[in-house]
Amino acid sequence: MPNVLITGGAGFIGTNFVKHYTSEFPDNRVIILDILSYAGGMDNISDLLLKPDVDFVQGNITDFDLVDGLLKSEEIEIVIHFAAESHVDRSIDGPRPFIDTNVNGTLSLLEACRRNWTEFSRKRFIHISTDEVYGSLGFSDPPFTEKSQYLPNSPYSASKAASDHLVRAYFKTYNLPTVTIHSSNNYGPYQFPEKLIPVMITKIINNKPLPVYGSGENIRDWIYVDDFCSAIVTIIEQAEVGEVYNVGGSHELSNINLVRKICDVMDKELNRVGLESSHHLIQFVSDRLGHDLRYAINTSKIETQLGWHPTTTFTKGLEKTVDWYLKNRSWWENRC
Ligand code: NAD
Repeated sequence: MPNVLITGGAGFIGTNFVKHYTSEFPDNRVIILDILSYAGGMDNISDLLLKPDVDFVQGNITDFDLVDGLLKSEEIEIVIHFAAESHVDRSIDGPRPFIDTNVNGTLSLLEACRRNWTEFSRKRFIHISTDEVYGSLGFSDPPFTEKSQYLPNSPYSASKAASDHLVRAYFKTYNLPTVTIHSSNNYGPYQFPEKLIPVMITKIINNKPLPVYGSGENIRDWIYVDDFCSAIVTIIEQAEVGEVYNVGGSHELSNINLVRKICDVMDKELNRVGLESSHHLIQFVSDRLGHDLRYAINTSKIETQLGWHPTTTFTKGLEKTVDWYLKNRSWWENRC
């Protein structure tokens, strides 16, 4: 029963992961380290903190003494590293916090692991990265594999790419037992209402215009967050150290088709028909600077090597997500 440190465990994927992990492994000791930026919330995880083996520490992953002390005092064996500045638009407005947290924060965690772990057999550093480090695909290009070239285009993806390189270097140089995971776009409960799907859901509820960048042709692959959590658990349990895995839902959608699907689901939920349909709220707005055209993920490595497959269809996942935002109005109203 390893002691586990989960960074960024009060954010979107982190919250879903802590819930997933503690229900699958109720006897493991879990420490959540999170600075509680705008994207993290105590209310996300307060129910989990009632469990005797789950504890929370508010702090910055760039604080080496804090991280080093936690690894020592809690005898941490597995680090699952989600903490990051994660929003591309914010990285375009101001890149510096992305370098501080995503690069220097990752370095501080790696260095603390290197100093504290004297033998590696039961240790793992699981680094959560993104498909965005591979850059942008054309419409007919094959999806990204683990061997795709790094070509990050935004300050966010550049900072994640830099952190990936540090993780690789710590494996190659010090044999630190790392595994890096590149995920496509996650969606589900607890996602901060600045990301595409919760932006659209919450605006539809409030009958506000639905801003779609450019002509909406940009394509993303979507994975339901609980499927991503199950992929991470599979990787913790089975992956060889030094490996890299791409994880996605194998469900590519253009942004405009995604928004139309959300409108369909919401219209059904809210009984909006005819002129009241949410489709009338769609408005095309100026494109994001350097907007990547397409991301797509080839998941055959994790599927064939580790036997993981996503189990939630996009329709089911979207319905569950919409249902959660409808039932948790105060959660997102406090964040809008
Ligand atoms: P998020 O922005 O919702 O959550 C990030 C969490 O990290 C927040 O709780 C925040 O308080 C915390 N944090 C930020 N800076 C910190 C610091 N300096 N010290 C400690 N904690 C800090 O992000 P998310 O969507 O949950 O993404 C989690 C990870 O997954 C990130 O590394 C992101 O790059 C990666 N990822 C996300 C997606 C996606 O679709 N959301 C896709 C691929 C990869």
